[in-house]
Amino acid sequence: MQTFDFDFFVVGGGSGGVRAARMAGQRGARVGLAEVADMGGTCVNVGCIPKKLYSYAAHFADSFEESHGFGWEGAAPVLNWETLKANRAKEIKRLNGIYDKLLDGAGVKVIKGWARMIGAHTIEVGDQHYTAKNILIATGGTALVPAVDGHDHVVTSDSMFDLDPFPRRLLVVGGGYIACEFASIFNGLGSHVTQVHRGEKVLTGFDEDVRSFIAVEMAKTGVDFKFKTEVESITKTALGLFVKLKSDGQSLTVDTVLYATGRIANASGLGLGAVGVEVSAAGAIKINEHYQTSVPHIYAVGDVTARMQLTPVALGEAMVVVDQLFGPAAGKAARSMSYDFIPTAVFTHPNIGTVGYSESQARDKFDKVSVYRADFKSLKHTLSGSNERTLMKLLVEDATDRVVGLHMVGPDAGEVVQGFAVAMKAGATKAVFDSTIGIHPTMAEEFVTMREPVAPKIHA
Ligand code: FAD
Ligand code: NDP
Repeated sequence: MQTFDFDFFVVGGGSGGVRAARMAGQRGARVGLAEVADMGGTCVNVGCIPKKLYSYAAHFADSFEESHGFGWEGAAPVLNWETLKANRAKEIKRLNGIYDKLLDGAGVKVIKGWARMIGAHTIEVGDQHYTAKNILIATGGTALVPAVDGHDHVVTSDSMFDLDPFPRRLLVVGGGYIACEFASIFNGLGSHVTQVHRGEKVLTGFDEDVRSFIAVEMAKTGVDFKFKTEVESITKTALGLFVKLKSDGQSLTVDTVLYATGRIANASGLGLGAVGVEVSAAGAIKINEHYQTSVPHIYAVGDVTARMQLTPVALGEAMVVVDQLFGPAAGKAARSMSYDFIPTAVFTHPNIGTVGYSESQARDKFDKVSVYRADFKSLKHTLSGSNERTLMKLLVEDATDRVVGLHMVGPDAGEVVQGFAVAMKAGATKAVFDSTIGIHPTMAEEFVTMREPVAPKIHA
């Protein structure tokens, strides 16, 4: 019988890889994990966590401003960018250490370096070779910058956390999650932000009301949107980066140009082709419903498969793979992964929280859909002086009365929507929402007090 160094070898110590390695180790498997950079991957080092910390930092600007209406006096404090960077770096280092400890505690052998497949069961890291019965590729993704004249002068989100000096004038290119979040964050931190998007609205795929509403709200906070245009060229001058846009000869000079125009799977340089692992035209690893690649003992999860590029999705997929290979945790059923009703938040200012179908998706999918919508100024802003508004929207499939879409643009929308996502996964109907007692006074209570649909019931 063939013997292997490991039962399970994981390539990539990000969200999916660490979770899979740790769980497999806890089940008693002999596990190896290769990671070329700091432990924790995109989310911990240059994604969710530092982004959210900077988002908190940016929100203070509003709070200082809004406190005056509540009687607080005095000038707003100023941001010390160096302090924020240093504190963020310290916290990320702490998290890296926690990940290292968790893996160590689960008995996982961590191998630092770039891993690539040199045989169906053999991985090379540096000058060492390791064999494994099963292999998981969890190598994530990388920002994609399109070819543009002056390409060398732009940065991606990876560089935004340590910019030196702080960008007083920032151009953000793109209209997706990263572009909108970074535009909001740096606007809050004090940059003058221009956001250029090739489309008519930001956040393709989100509910149309949400897409329009967030742009209005972000513009109120100071983000200068330029829609339906693209960058033609970027030139370095003594005054900064001179950016020419394709529309009407418009131009601007900024300190930093951030390209947030999507991410591609990290599937190259891994030796996948040579061992028969197939990759799609877009460069993502192809997998079946069990996360097996075209080589059945090689699995792939997370951003490298370019499905939903979200940390909880990578974590969920990783745990399904481990349960398949090593059995579920004691006393638990084997996990499965459903891609329906995955909630998501965009940490713009204000936040977006969403779960289920957008109105147009719901109308395509279901025969008849009722729409409930509320657009209001929150209680807090009656004194704060802010003109921020909040949007809440419910979509109900008439035939079943099931709530199939729930959308919010407003403070802490991610926090609010997480709980409703549980109810919607459980199949909650509008009648269940209506019979739920609200928590008063909150914004979230609006979701259980919307009584009249705003649009006539329309046949799809
Ligand atoms: P990753 O976490 O990217 O991990 C891949 C790891 O593999 C990396 O550590 C890399 O160094 C390593 N690696 C790659 N190739 C090799 C190799 N050959 N050998 C050894 N190691 C290798 N998601 C959310 O849910 N919420 C958010 O708020 C959020 N914010 C984000 C903000 C930004 C700016 C970005 C870029 C992403 C954000 N995401 C967010 C997405 C989230 O970070 C990813 O979906 C998640 O990290 C994917 O996990 P993964 O395990 O697939 O890959
Ligand atoms: P997205 O796919 O969300 O957005 C990419 C944006 O760039 C779109 O607006 C797209 O326009 C635009 N674009 C694409 N190509 C070009 C081009 N050649 N020129 C100009 N514009 C272009 O990608 P992001 O990079 O923002 O984020 C990647 C993923 O990371 C997200 O999809 C999300 O899954 C994850 N993420 C999650 C976060 C969260 O959970 N809060 C936060 C950050 C990232 P168009 O719409 O017209 O195609």
